[in-house]
Amino acid sequence: MPATSLDQIVSLCKRRGFIFPGSEIYGGLANTWDYGPLGAELKNRVKQHWWQTFVRKRADIVGLDSSILMNPKVWEASGHVSNFNDPLVDCKECKERFRGDKLIEEKLGVEAAAVLKLDQIGPMLNAEKIPCPNCSGHNWTEAKQFNMMFETQQGVVKDDSNVIYLRPETAQGIFVNFKNILQTMRLRLPFGVAQIGKAFRNEITPGNFTFRTREFEQMEIEYFTEPDGSKKAFDDWKKTVWDWYIGLGIDKKRLRIREHDKEELSHYSSRTLDIEYEFPWGWGELFGLAHRGDFDLTQHEKFSGEDLKYTDPNDPKKKFLPHVIEPSFGADRTVLTILLEAYDEEELENGETRTVMRFNPNIAPMDVAILPLSKKEPLIAKAQEVFRQITEETNLVVDFDITGSIGKRYRRQDEIGTPRCITIDFGTIGEDKEQGAKDTVTIRDRDSLKQDRVKITELVKVLAE
Ligand code: ATP
Repeated sequence: MPATSLDQIVSLCKRRGFIFPGSEIYGGLANTWDYGPLGAELKNRVKQHWWQTFVRKRADIVGLDSSILMNPKVWEASGHVSNFNDPLVDCKECKERFRGDKLIEEKLGVEAAAVLKLDQIGPMLNAEKIPCPNCSGHNWTEAKQFNMMFETQQGVVKDDSNVIYLRPETAQGIFVNFKNILQTMRLRLPFGVAQIGKAFRNEITPGNFTFRTREFEQMEIEYFTEPDGSKKAFDDWKKTVWDWYIGLGIDKKRLRIREHDKEELSHYSSRTLDIEYEFPWGWGELFGLAHRGDFDLTQHEKFSGEDLKYTDPNDPKKKFLPHVIEPSFGADRTVLTILLEAYDEEELENGETRTVMRFNPNIAPMDVAILPLSKKEPLIAKAQEVFRQITEETNLVVDFDITGSIGKRYRRQDEIGTPRCITIDFGTIGEDKEQGAKDTVTIRDRDSLKQDRVKITELVKVLAE
């Protein structure tokens, strides 16, 4: 059973150290969130799993880590300076500002909002009497374009000539390095370049926890193909990404694919689809796949004056700009989805209810917890020895918890989704045969609650199973 409300997740994340409100001791900064120790582990695991799947395990994709700050001409060439806008509407009653298309989407569904032109948004909000989320009035202005790029100044002199932008997507860092990568990596089409990094958008209406924030992390691939191969590459990526999300443990009942209508397509795209997840507030975009054609390389050739063409290795006279398929994943939305999906409340035989995060073991923030039954010195010493053994002989992330009753500690480990707990008891140190034989420990399985007695010498082998 996944979480049925966002509040369940927000409160568990705060309580257990996954995600905290940003700048909290100063009263916060609206819609900013900090990943705590467990959230950082979970997010890192998701990113590592992504990198492993799409970079390390594929001979046709290489990685990149480009700068957040880029020459402002990049954003003129990409179209972001003139086109990266969202429709802003003002409530005439309370003067609050909102993203008009999202208000319509919430009320009438994503299909209704997606095809609207700018000048239709204000009239539709008024005609449908869509209420202001702040004051419930329905007296809206016409929508106007609002550019979402964050501006800042480079250097010590603050004037317009020094204006630069925080990147609104990681993709452009890949396009501006296309030539460098081509020259250094001996790649042949089709090939991809992948990167993970922060992006910044001055969203008009951020919210729904980490779903929409102004600072977020993307995991993007630009996959370059021959123009003829691009349709097949698009379909291949659609399947590959769908399978990746299923492999993370997301139930396909709550996933769907939504193709964009012609009217909804971005200026650079000839075909786009989103993978959407059914969040507690409704369907929302988790991932986007776009056919960018040769739009970006054409623009960067034009604005930079550099030749960005690819030379066919079999026919050096054949030079052309490759076409691009872009799978674009949101790291934060992926983590949020995993948190919602993993959440479960289970009634136990004794009538109590336990909350358990059923993370897929390959992304759980902790692999194992070591729990000495009491704080008595010989038990702690033995538990430390077992901790050292596992951390030295494996790459597992191991929690070490000695505080509170064993029942409370199991509950905590269930709530942070640790697949296995190892309990060191008086049997382990040879002081109580009834608890178990000397040099054996109990392994408790998070999901089945089954407890097995295992020899310490076999622990590493058992944990690898
Ligand atoms: P939306 O329609 O929700 O604004 P988008 O279509 O603008 O999203 P893309 O430009 O396709 O999003 O970005 C790719 C991915 O980056 C999205 O699928 C999403 O996972 C993530 N993303 C985009 N904007 C945000 C944001 N403000 N906060 C968190 N993640 C985001």
